[in-house]
Amino acid sequence: MRQPSLDTEITRLSDARTLAPLSAATAIAQDLLIALRQAKHVVVFTGAGVSAESGIPTFRDALTGLWERFDAEDLATPNAFRKDKDLVWGWYEWRRMKVLMAQPNPAHLAIAALARHVAKLTVITQNVDDLHERAGSTDVLHLHGSLHQPRCASCGQAHHLPAAIPEEPEGGRRLSPPVCDHCGGPVRPGVVWFGEDLPARQLHLAQQQAQACDLFFTIGTSGLVYPAAHIPVLAKQAGAQVVQINPSKTPLDDVCTWSLQGAAGTVLPRLMESAGFDHSA
Ligand SMILES: [Zn+2]
Repeated sequence: MRQPSLDTEITRLSDARTLAPLSAATAIAQDLLIALRQAKHVVVFTGAGVSAESGIPTFRDALTGLWERFDAEDLATPNAFRKDKDLVWGWYEWRRMKVLMAQPNPAHLAIAALARHVAKLTVITQNVDDLHERAGSTDVLHLHGSLHQPRCASCGQAHHLPAAIPEEPEGGRRLSPPVCDHCGGPVRPGVVWFGEDLPARQLHLAQQQAQACDLFFTIGTSGLVYPAAHIPVLAKQAGAQVVQINPSKTPLDDVCTWSLQGAAGTVLPRLMESAGFDHSA
């Protein structure tokens, strides 16, 4: 009796909607490939895992050096900034440097390439870096703000930072924030801090897109940070099919039609290839 071939094995695996950890032979379900080829409006929702694959320290990993003894409440709240502006601004400039030194990874590039194969693609990200934009994505909603769009803490006017990569010491340092050109107030990072609302317009657009799409990808996110974590649920409730790509299980597993376990930078290019899409930049 012949042994089942690898193809048979993959076909059989594909029948089980939720695939086991994806190794060298990432098995992509046939019905997912059909859904992807037929999709008219795709939403890609990304979280910290996608940035981490570019070597960007996650929020927790960024608490090193000068900030080792601090926690989020000491650095990422409006009160923290009022209390010690130099400590907070120094941390964010160090993080902005790390982002500008990093490059988009194959997941960012595949997402940008996917936009060429579907009628409409919207990226909704919880990440505060600009890697989706640098990979070539144009329609990006930043739910948690951006490290690259600071604004005045007093009057709200946007502040433009020099284009050059900041040169911050590896261990970090305290750094005075710039002052607002308009009112002389202190400039603050353009990110959403704990205790702050998500930017209303971006959140509204994200909800709208999630409810209008037919295929929704949730990638590299734990599905734990609300209200952002509700976006995939909205998509599902409105009738979209939901695909999850994450190295481990998340609370979103139950919402997903397909759950692909693995690194986004590995799984996404393979998914594109399997669908017959060119994913080169
Ligand atoms: Zn101002």
